[in-house]
Amino acid sequence: MQTEERGPQGPCARVRVPSKINLFLAVRGVRPDGYHELVSVMQTVTLYDAVKACLDADPAAVHPSTRRFMGLDFTVEGPDGVPRDGDNLAVRAARLLMDTAGVGTSGDNGGTEPITRLHLSKRIPVAAGMAGGSADAAAALVALNHLWEADLDREQLRRLAAELGADVPFCVVGGTALATGTGTALAQVLTRGTYHWVVGISDDPLSTADVYRTYDEVAQPSHAEPDLVLQALRTGDAEALGAALYNDLEVAALHLRPELGDRRQALRDAGALGAVVAGSGPTLLALADSAQHAAELRAAVAPLFDRTEIALSPAGGPELRPG
Ligand code: ATP
Repeated sequence: MQTEERGPQGPCARVRVPSKINLFLAVRGVRPDGYHELVSVMQTVTLYDAVKACLDADPAAVHPSTRRFMGLDFTVEGPDGVPRDGDNLAVRAARLLMDTAGVGTSGDNGGTEPITRLHLSKRIPVAAGMAGGSADAAAALVALNHLWEADLDREQLRRLAAELGADVPFCVVGGTALATGTGTALAQVLTRGTYHWVVGISDDPLSTADVYRTYDEVAQPSHAEPDLVLQALRTGDAEALGAALYNDLEVAALHLRPELGDRRQALRDAGALGAVVAGSGPTLLALADSAQHAAELRAAVAPLFDRTEIALSPAGGPELRPG
């Protein structure tokens, strides 16, 4: 593993983290604790955020015995909707790892404690159904686990991640998974091939909580099963995957944003193998059958969206990168 590049006085760790799409998402109902019971096939895509964590300290001062005086400084490069404070999921992940690994929070140590500087660069659209906040939490866990030499393995990080949110465990692992329960019980899925997506992004966010609330009002618990999606992935059949894309939350997202229905239809009319709302929306995903097809499709539908991207799946998990 690399830690490379140094901060003002100490080492840095950089992590690039992919976003997540749901190829299949069925809402089974609401549990007594208020969480929704899901069955979902999740896959990472090559639309990334990046986290850089640096120790601003004399390396001698960050010997494990002095870590209980660690301070945390957080900065963000990204759009307005991203919290700049302790509400950011990357910061919440850092605090949780601090508690778990015995790396202390900033205390009254005369201002001499070492500081970890955590910087987040966002490209994943915000409140858009692509689990950007969860991805950032996963990236922070992986980067700081390395920087602080906390030595938790991926399974331990995955368990910690479940305390931060239902999508965070998947974001720690990446790849392709069948998720059940609230989304935190994960089974790896066999997948062949690379899939080409056009991602249609709207600057007008949708709150996941509002979408679920609307779902409970307008829809019944679903019995849909992911077999067709799993079979398409197993055989690497993009056409079959396009036909099998499925998302119960679409009905709620379209209820709140009727224009999404027209845009989804426009993606299909422009030749997509399939088109679906990403998670809780409002992002739309269109599957193409090649890189060239994706470029053509993107050119045709770009005027419908505030921003379009081409992304490939699956994209692996969070990656520690050289400086
Ligand atoms: P979900 O994972 O709930 O489906 P989403 O992918 O639709 O969410 P996110 O981009 O994760 O949306 O943002 C949801 C909300 O989380 C934002 O409105 C913001 O207030 C909050 N948030 C906290 N941390 C972050 C972060 N690092 N990046 C983006 N949003 C964050």
